[in-house]
Amino acid sequence: MSRLVLKFGGSSVADPGRMHAVAARIEPFVREGNEVVVVVSARGKTTDELLSLAGELRGQDNREMDQLLATGEQQSIALLALALRDRKVPARSFTGLQAGIYADGYHMEGRIRTVQPHCLEKALAEGVVPVVAGFQGINASGDIITLGRGGSDLSAVALAASLEADACHIYTDVTGVYSADPRLVPEARKLSRVSYGVCMEMAVMGAKVLQARSVEMAAQYDVPVYVASSFDEEEGTWVMREDVNERLVVQAVTQDGNVAKVAVLGVPDVPGIAAKLFGALGQNGIGVEMIIQSVMRGDVNDIAFLVHKAFLGEAIRICRNVARDIEAQGVTFDTEIARISVVGAGIANHPEVPSKMFSILADVGINIDMIASTAQSITCVIPSGQVETAVRALHRHFVEEEAPCASPS
Ligand code: ADP
Ligand code: ASP
Ligand code: MG
Repeated sequence: MSRLVLKFGGSSVADPGRMHAVAARIEPFVREGNEVVVVVSARGKTTDELLSLAGELRGQDNREMDQLLATGEQQSIALLALALRDRKVPARSFTGLQAGIYADGYHMEGRIRTVQPHCLEKALAEGVVPVVAGFQGINASGDIITLGRGGSDLSAVALAASLEADACHIYTDVTGVYSADPRLVPEARKLSRVSYGVCMEMAVMGAKVLQARSVEMAAQYDVPVYVASSFDEEEGTWVMREDVNERLVVQAVTQDGNVAKVAVLGVPDVPGIAAKLFGALGQNGIGVEMIIQSVMRGDVNDIAFLVHKAFLGEAIRICRNVARDIEAQGVTFDTEIARISVVGAGIANHPEVPSKMFSILADVGINIDMIASTAQSITCVIPSGQVETAVRALHRHFVEEEAPCASPS
């Protein structure tokens, strides 16, 4: 008998038919005698629809946004509990508060502080399957706080860690973690196993199949994560400590069109300026990536960085204020960009990878705007209209041609 957390994403529970299919998928785990906790996302595109509904009213307030967004998952838990009960599987729905998920930090970007799943333990002891709302917790003021986009993955891993589950299964609309987004690259290969480190780098760089913070938490608490499809029975991907898939240097190619570039121009070259700029952004909960300071022109620099598109308006407002303060020459932004990355264990130890990546992009006529690298990835910012071409070319040269005989898994 195992203790398992099974998480089902939005497309898996989009309508009553899918709710029944998911209940049928859960039932055998219960009948086999496992202790099962289910985590569920909002149905289909509900979260996006709620966001655009609120956008029409424009009275920006993130506390109210969280109150609104959390309703998506609350519908799902009750509906899935009903579908399970219809199959005579005892089930009970739990909101984040009822499940004991406590979070703090900024609204819409909450961080899990602690999980106290007493009510879930009680339900399990009674032979009841708890169906928990993903993506939501409760803060010290008793307000609902959501955990960032894709946050149901994080809820599931956090519950698996605190309930000391044997594994956390993430059921979605693809059959595992692939060497590129299979919707963009039909030749993408399913990875039978991938290490936490590589999977996290993939997620940070845009592979949305798992939320990056959920992989980070799985690594921290050593929770084995199994990613599979809720639509068929095909073998999925294990994300775990061992990395048994090192035959390719580059294991995946990712893309992220959800970022925008901000540049602060003509920044005086004196100590404390970067601290002031990024301090102001950080205090407002705006994460930045790929910070690049250009070579000095006279006695000024340009500083450019990426932000998620959702935070662009706020980032520009803050940068304009700081620019005025520090007497910089101006602030510009560009939303027509995307970043593409090659990801793999030990990329930093293979000096041929960067030049090969840049040559592949040059050969398909793509101009690189910014470059950054980590131990496990190299990332280029390019025009958003050329993402598909870039990802397919990189995947062909780095994955398909490097290991033409490798089995698809
Ligand atoms: P869910 O609603 O189940 O949480 P998501 O939409 O968040 O599902 O994530 C699944 C999607 O992730 C897939 O439909 C796929 O297009 C996308 N994806 C991006 N990169 C990858 C990758 N490397 N491997 C698998 N899926 C990927
Ligand atoms: N419903 C939330 C979202 O769309 C959380 C999730 O699906 O993981 O981001
Ligand atoms: Mg998701």
